[in-house]
Amino acid sequence: MERSIVIIGGGLAGLAAGCYGRMNGYATTIYEMHSMPGGVCTAWKRKGYTIDGAVNWVVGTQPDGAFHRFWEELGAAQNWSIHNHERFLIVEDAEGRAFTVYCDADQLEAHMLGIAPEDSGPIRELTGAIRRASKLSMPVDKPAELFGVIDMVKMIGALPVQSFMKKWSKLTVGAFAARFKSPFLREVFPRAFGSDSPMIMVVMMLAWQHGKAAGYIIGGALALVSSIERRYLELGGTVHYNARVEKILVEDDRAVGIRLADGSEHRADWVISAADGRTTIFDMLDGKYVDREIKERYDNPRLFQPLVYVSIGVNHEPAGLPTSIAGLLYPLETPITIAGKEEWTMCVRSYSFDPTLTPEGKNVLIVQYESDYDYWSALRREPARYAAEKERIVSEVVARLEERFPEISGRIEMTDVATPITWERYTGNWRGAYEGWMFDAKSFSSSMRKTLPGLRNFYMAGQWVNPGGGIPTAVMSGNHTVQLICNKDGRRFVTSLPEAGGKGG
Ligand SMILES: Cc1cc2nc3c(=O)[nH]c(=O)nc-3n(C[C@H](O)[C@H](O)[C@H](O)COP(=O)(O)OP(=O)(O)OC[C@H]3O[C@@H](n4cnc5c(N)ncnc54)[C@H](O)[C@@H]3O)c2cc1C
Repeated sequence: MERSIVIIGGGLAGLAAGCYGRMNGYATTIYEMHSMPGGVCTAWKRKGYTIDGAVNWVVGTQPDGAFHRFWEELGAAQNWSIHNHERFLIVEDAEGRAFTVYCDADQLEAHMLGIAPEDSGPIRELTGAIRRASKLSMPVDKPAELFGVIDMVKMIGALPVQSFMKKWSKLTVGAFAARFKSPFLREVFPRAFGSDSPMIMVVMMLAWQHGKAAGYIIGGALALVSSIERRYLELGGTVHYNARVEKILVEDDRAVGIRLADGSEHRADWVISAADGRTTIFDMLDGKYVDREIKERYDNPRLFQPLVYVSIGVNHEPAGLPTSIAGLLYPLETPITIAGKEEWTMCVRSYSFDPTLTPEGKNVLIVQYESDYDYWSALRREPARYAAEKERIVSEVVARLEERFPEISGRIEMTDVATPITWERYTGNWRGAYEGWMFDAKSFSSSMRKTLPGLRNFYMAGQWVNPGGGIPTAVMSGNHTVQLICNKDGRRFVTSLPEAGGKGG
């Protein structure tokens, strides 16, 4: 008889687990609480404008690079069209001087040397690291749990790479920026990347850009998710939307299925939760399968700070707003108060590079701020005040944008605001932490367990067991989870391509 897997959550990790489960002959059923797949990798339409809520850059868009194979197997890469940005970010100071973080390391080096020739030492050290990192290949094909002797030997061979990684992981952006003699670079560099972030994050992000390994998928989240959902259905998988899982059924410390909010029970040989970690561990399993490490992590969470995400549809393309991955970051003369905090800068992103998101000549601008979950959670209990606060934020953002880009006045056709509560409500992610656990130097070099102590036939997948989250990591995690299940079931893990037939894993 066919072995079966129930998958909780139809985000990218759940969809990928479903696809790889089908490729390996399992009967798979995904239960997704929302009316559509994708989870946080999503977009929404307002007045003819599509607001993309996730895809800025996706690792694996370069055919030779790490992760690309997943995108091919999941049916995403076959028809996609990739846009590689020239700029990662532009940061301005109060005098209007700009630091452009170019995606190409040579261009970045020339630009930075033009700004501060006296800083050639740290500048060349940075761009050298970017070039070197762009040539590194990441071991993504297999979960660490299945590493054998050959993999270990390969790891020893990779020791110089590990010491390179360690060096840049230990260094914060703030500490690196302190090496610049130029007061301008010392000011703008930490503003670009966050003073406390590990430098390895900057080096890797820019290395992927330098190697054109992490482009933007034209059509954004909707294009990416719909191609993977299609692949899952073509592989014969089953998915139920509007199906909220309330409990994971357990018999003799073995997961045997799930119970939905409508009371129906669905049994399977294996259960994968690709949903939010807190709900899975403490609600669906009543906190019965935890140890000190898990308790400590959830008692003192270091999560992604949730967002206030303001989108503006304009019947115009503002001049002086070059497209980039992360936007134009500039200081404000008058701050905007969001969740009680005065914000003295604004970062605005233009989506004019993706013609599928708007009718011709129109454009979506997005301004986002990290915000305080508790503030929004309390405000949500008073719907009128919550709505009024969103309105106030929109009008303040619009006013500041009009100061900078006067030509958009009278041409704004759509506004929209998502808050930390929006992410919590639609995707279940704890405290609106849209990418789960914060990425730091420690999590870069360590991995989290995908099992819970004492519970058999159960795995977790997705961003709540992969610190730092991310689109490619989510699909890799779905793949790895099925590899672990195949291993337990004594099956050889295999993968296939949509048209070209089977391929060994
Ligand atoms: C604004 C923004 C920008 C981003 N930019 C990028 C980027 O440029 N590049 C990048 O790589 N990543 C980016 N990310 C991150 C990336 O989108 C996520 O890390 C990734 O999509 C997470 O996938 P997941 O499947 O692990 O989790 P999720 O997407 O959270 O999926 C979990 C799913 O489980 C469902 N669920 C929850 N509870 C239940 C339940 N009880 N019953 C049934 N279903 C349930 C949810 O509805 C959801 O569909 C961005 C995210 C955001 C929000």
